[in-house]
Amino acid sequence: MKGAVLYGPRDIRFVEREAPRIIEPTDAILRLPATCICGSDLWPYRGISPVSEPMPMGHEYCGIVEEVGKAVKSVRPGQFVIGSFATSDNTCPHCRYGYQSSCVHREFMSGAQAPVLRVPLADGTLVATPELPRAEMIPSLLALSDVMGTGWFAAVAANVQPGKTVVVVGDGAVGLLGVLAAKQLGAERVIAMSRHPARQQLAREFGATDIVTERGDAGVARIKELTKGVGADAVLECVGTQESMMQAIHATRPGGSVGYVGVPHGVEFHGEELFYTHVRLHGGPAPVRRFLPDLIDLVWKGKINPGKVFDLTLPLDQVAEGYRAMDERRAIKVLLRP
Ligand SMILES: [Zn+2]
Repeated sequence: MKGAVLYGPRDIRFVEREAPRIIEPTDAILRLPATCICGSDLWPYRGISPVSEPMPMGHEYCGIVEEVGKAVKSVRPGQFVIGSFATSDNTCPHCRYGYQSSCVHREFMSGAQAPVLRVPLADGTLVATPELPRAEMIPSLLALSDVMGTGWFAAVAANVQPGKTVVVVGDGAVGLLGVLAAKQLGAERVIAMSRHPARQQLAREFGATDIVTERGDAGVARIKELTKGVGADAVLECVGTQESMMQAIHATRPGGSVGYVGVPHGVEFHGEELFYTHVRLHGGPAPVRRFLPDLIDLVWKGKINPGKVFDLTLPLDQVAEGYRAMDERRAIKVLLRP
């Protein structure tokens, strides 16, 4: 089997790998009709997160169950399933509180940019669709595995509620789907921060009511202007840099909340400054598993179409071009066909 492996900064190769097989009795083996590249794959690709040994890439997946281990009870061969980028037993206390991405048995998935994938803890990680999906629905189902689930968590963590004013910092795929989530959760006003015309357009399709092109302090000033000097009720931080985090905190009104899902890189807080903002912070790796049943239902009924974030589709063997396109921001998100 061939799959995508990162050897070092900007050195991604489509190479022969050992075919996945059942190792633990709780495993499942999936055949993937589609996979994709995540914004977070760009951290090691750009050399910002170190790569010490060749790393099989990809953690977003959905597909047909080919085989299950002896202990697997809730999924069976032939089903179409979606799982989170973080595995979970879905039974430990953290899972039961809805924080499956902090499961005591959590593993972060890798190696999904391939035709076949091993998923540990299949019972607690995978959710089956009601029946086999139509081909055109697959990109939207794939998006649930991380990017849609993460955008959704950003909105939930920021306490988005009907009638509220929401700001989304970051116009990557997660930010754009954060806009969709905020809209679905009933926000009245959704302000997307973006200076990229194609992304602004998609943000509007997903429900953005306003676009702010300024960044940093100028961006915060613009948000204050749009909210009569008050700030937003809820801010979704979907980037993970010092600038984006400060932009998010300063755009939030006292008593408001920031939901942060961009993996922080070099972000630091000053306790005293944070103290006087009166802002709630909640975030982390999204507990996608908590949201999967509801999100599958929304996609199944045609109420949301998160697959629209894929604006470039390539055969899996051209994975290197996919990384380049996302690195250079020529593509919002790349779908790969094994
Ligand atoms: Zn657990």
